Amino acid sequence: MSGVSLGHPDPADTRERADVERDVFVAGVAAGLGESHDLPLDTHLHTIHSPDANAMLDAYCASAIERGIAEIAITDHVDFDPTMPAYGFVSFEDRERDVRGAAERWAHRGLAIRFGVEITYERAYEDDIRGWLRRHPHDFVIGSVHISAVSPYKASNVAAFVAGRPLPEVVAPYFDEVIGAAQSGLFDTIGHMDFVKRYLVPHVMPADLARAPELYEPVLRALIESGTALEVNASGLRQLPRETYPSAAIVARYRELGGRHVTIGSDAHRTEWFAYGLAEAYRHATRAGFDALTFRRGAERIRVPMAPAKAEEGHEP
Ligand SMILES: [Zn+2]
Ligand SMILES: [Zn+2]
Repeated sequence: MSGVSLGHPDPADTRERADVERDVFVAGVAAGLGESHDLPLDTHLHTIHSPDANAMLDAYCASAIERGIAEIAITDHVDFDPTMPAYGFVSFEDRERDVRGAAERWAHRGLAIRFGVEITYERAYEDDIRGWLRRHPHDFVIGSVHISAVSPYKASNVAAFVAGRPLPEVVAPYFDEVIGAAQSGLFDTIGHMDFVKRYLVPHVMPADLARAPELYEPVLRALIESGTALEVNASGLRQLPRETYPSAAIVARYRELGGRHVTIGSDAHRTEWFAYGLAEAYRHATRAGFDALTFRRGAERIRVPMAPAKAEEGHEP
């Protein structure tokens, strides 16, 4: 498939990555990663209101009902850096109208749809983001660090950046921004907290990062201290890392350090990616000791039991 932008500032560089990731997705489907059913919530989804997505909202809704996924959050991109692809892409009003309209249309089928957003965090734009969020309330807000046009992780920069640098220095620019996002207190959750590992392949492999879990600890502590949730993002399972963002081991470490708030999202950008890897991400959280997701439906933070209702109903730890 050609002509579909990845929303990346360097499309020539990323064509090869897209081809490889298409194969990763196909292999994952064969391995059963597409089988996610009877789950309470997917907290991270993109529609045509994101510049790098082509999914229709109603297609996700139909798929959610078919699979028994009870609730979804639509979290299209909003960027504050004018060089980023979602800067000024779709107005708040248009996004809200479409999501609230779908919520009304699908409610009678038993599907709950929340109006969310995924904001690209950069320290330089923190004040702008704070002001904008105050004026534009959402049900649920993800803050994520993405790879900008001037990033050292951009495909045309990354090999030179990694060469000769020790691993802590390689990940520092990314993790420092993630710490900033957590400490800002602006976000319900931090999206794909080690997304950088997608851009580091093949110079630094996920296994290299797995051998250095201490590099994650300042980020995990910033999440815990700020009360920001950790997202278990399934999209890494269909991308070069072939594992969630972050890995199961880091989800477990977050729990050990005292982390108590997780969200879980498939981060789909196409209809066929909906719920891909979602059950696997739930398993990571369950094995780490979580029995509920932390979510927000506009007002106060709530807990959504991960097991289908019954035994967990009304349980407050
Ligand atoms: Zn993202
Ligand atoms: Zn996303």
